[in-house]
Amino acid sequence: MATAYIHNIIALTVHIKGLVQGVGFRPFVYRLAQEHRLSGWVVNGTEGVTVKVEGMAGNMPQFIEDLRFKAPVVSQIDEITVDQDLPEGLNGFYILASQDLTDETSEISPDIAICPDCLADMKSQAHRLDYPFINCTNCGPRFSIIKDFPYDRSKTTMASFMMCPVCREEYSDVSNRRFHAQPVACNQCGPVYTLHAQTGIIRNFQEILAEAAIMISNGNIVALKGTGGFHLMCNALDENAVERLRQRKKREGKPFAVMFRDMESIREYAETNDTEAASLTSWRRPVVILKSKKAMPDGITLGLDTIGAFLPYMAFHYLLFEKLAIPAIVLTSGNISDEPVITGNNEALKVFSSFAVAVIDYNRDIFNRTDDSVVRIIGGRERLVRRARGYAPSPVRLGFDVDGILATGAELSNTFCIGKSNRAYLSQHIGDLKNHETYVFFEESQSRFRRMFRIEPSLVAADLHPDYLSSRFARNTGIEIVFVQHHHAHLASCMAENGLDEPVIGIAFDGSGYGTDGHIWGSEFMTCDFRQFERHFHFSYMAMPGGDKAAEEPWRMGLSLLYQAFGRELTGLDLPLIKALNKSLVTRIIDSIEKKINCPLSSGAGRLFDAVAAITGICINSLFHAEAPMRLESLIEKGIDDFYPFTVSDSLDFSPAVKEICREVINGESPGVISARFHNTIAEASMQAVELIRNKTGITVVVLSGGTFQNKYLLELLESKLVKNNFVVHTHSKVPCNDGGIALGQLAVAATNRLTD
Ligand code: ZN
Ligand code: ZN
Ligand code: FE
Repeated sequence: MATAYIHNIIALTVHIKGLVQGVGFRPFVYRLAQEHRLSGWVVNGTEGVTVKVEGMAGNMPQFIEDLRFKAPVVSQIDEITVDQDLPEGLNGFYILASQDLTDETSEISPDIAICPDCLADMKSQAHRLDYPFINCTNCGPRFSIIKDFPYDRSKTTMASFMMCPVCREEYSDVSNRRFHAQPVACNQCGPVYTLHAQTGIIRNFQEILAEAAIMISNGNIVALKGTGGFHLMCNALDENAVERLRQRKKREGKPFAVMFRDMESIREYAETNDTEAASLTSWRRPVVILKSKKAMPDGITLGLDTIGAFLPYMAFHYLLFEKLAIPAIVLTSGNISDEPVITGNNEALKVFSSFAVAVIDYNRDIFNRTDDSVVRIIGGRERLVRRARGYAPSPVRLGFDVDGILATGAELSNTFCIGKSNRAYLSQHIGDLKNHETYVFFEESQSRFRRMFRIEPSLVAADLHPDYLSSRFARNTGIEIVFVQHHHAHLASCMAENGLDEPVIGIAFDGSGYGTDGHIWGSEFMTCDFRQFERHFHFSYMAMPGGDKAAEEPWRMGLSLLYQAFGRELTGLDLPLIKALNKSLVTRIIDSIEKKINCPLSSGAGRLFDAVAAITGICINSLFHAEAPMRLESLIEKGIDDFYPFTVSDSLDFSPAVKEICREVINGESPGVISARFHNTIAEASMQAVELIRNKTGITVVVLSGGTFQNKYLLELLESKLVKNNFVVHTHSKVPCNDGGIALGQLAVAATNRLTD
């Protein structure tokens, strides 16, 4: 703006799109306008927020800059457009009543961890001293309590609580931090906790805290209602308590998440870099997978070299730690086995009171169930392993129209996705649909998403696998379906979140997905765009003796690969795997492979990792999904650069590597060195395959997807190799690389198909 006009009065209309509703955006604009001495108004509109400002031309640039850079932490501005207007001589600044949000809904905020201001208020405001449901426009529950849109208290599970006069005044005062904070509450008028124990019921909050702290310190298990579901907690340093909890949850495997008092305590037990610290302290408060430093009970980490750590995010957590002397508690989702986390008070009492000495609930309903999110920092970026609290239901914005499409996702680690305009709303983590309760959760959530986002699907996208429950669900809708091959969907998901719309080379590594040749795929080197894919290479097919059982019992894949490399001679090998197995069982398995009885073929990278974990004796029997690859990764020795032999022709064949691994195991080489060399081999072979595809097609952009890339060592190594060889590499960070991200890819493929039809 030229200085000659600096004293001129001008008017601007500013449209802001993105996550700008339900996150304190209008009060922020109000305060900003005051600060810059501008008149005008702000209003929530159909697609974001509109601001009209009038004032000195010279004040405008800073106002626009502050809008962008000082916005509330949770808001997310995707687009600001500024138009010059004619001044109307406006006086004062006002927040206008919302325009009716008809069909074009705006966004629903994820749940937000308690903010520092509220933590301070909790110790100073007379009506909120130690009040555990304190919140403001910058923090508190959102998605978990929202029943419908637009976001308004009457459409949340706060509807039954009448605001007291004090809260009402704060809620109505535009200069207050709690202006239009829908869940605003205090000691006088808000939800309260209740502790249920064998010995009786406690309603006094200070007594609840004191009692819970004593119970935990004494080695007991306590159930606590959280933001999006119940948790089970115990002293993380008490081996017996941890062991008991493990037995009660009927889940022998899978590490427990640990909540630490503060960053200082985390640093005592785990290594953290700046990026990891940023994730840990962010308002999303995910569980962050860190490298262990000081030992925790084996019952927590199960001997892996990592620990899932997170920080308090509810007022209750902070207040509990005030009473506890210990630095850490196990805080694991409150479910039994693979069922969804429990959200209802009655069910929690019924299920948990047989082993938890107390169940602590509160009298506000959880409407949308959300687990804790899990992330891992790989290559300096946050990667989602499980996307739920703090992340869902924020959309992924795409460069094309996906309106009216429902993508039903995969079967294990299911999430689904619905399209509205150019936004893809990926559901929170749902889980394994084979579990009946989880399937009910899937059905219920997708009908809720349809209602909340006002979508009546006209097209459905589903996995090519005919037996996936998500595919069956799609067929039962009676709506037109686009079937998408599993690994094409993985790669499309990575393309979509990275805004790519061009042919790419894709590597998809996972456990299994339905292939177009009737075999099970899972190590796919493709060229693809959203419309189609071409498969160039894959790992040599491996027999899966016992079918699905081979995906759960690594020793079966171990035998299969040994047979591939040595034939029947394998029985004479001096390997821990052979010694661990009954001779007649081994013979039976070999017979079944030779006669091709119940031995489907798989190119799943996960199966190769299973086999190597079994052959090295690192993991012969597995107790939870992907345990063998996790143990293999966990043992990797640093500083090993060499790799095993392999061949690349029509497929990538690792029989030469398997032979070499056997020789080394027999010679007593350390498992950590073997594991490092094995990972290096996969990276090197992948690099060579991609190089061949580039030579053939001229494509230099590579996308990496599939659950195997949760492996930090492999992803970092392969990515750096590719970059060194002048490839442009794209990976996941906003959605999981595992099957939890599949639905986004299905959506993108279906949308593009619709366009070209
Ligand atoms: Zn707050
Ligand atoms: Zn109140
Ligand atoms: Fe997959």
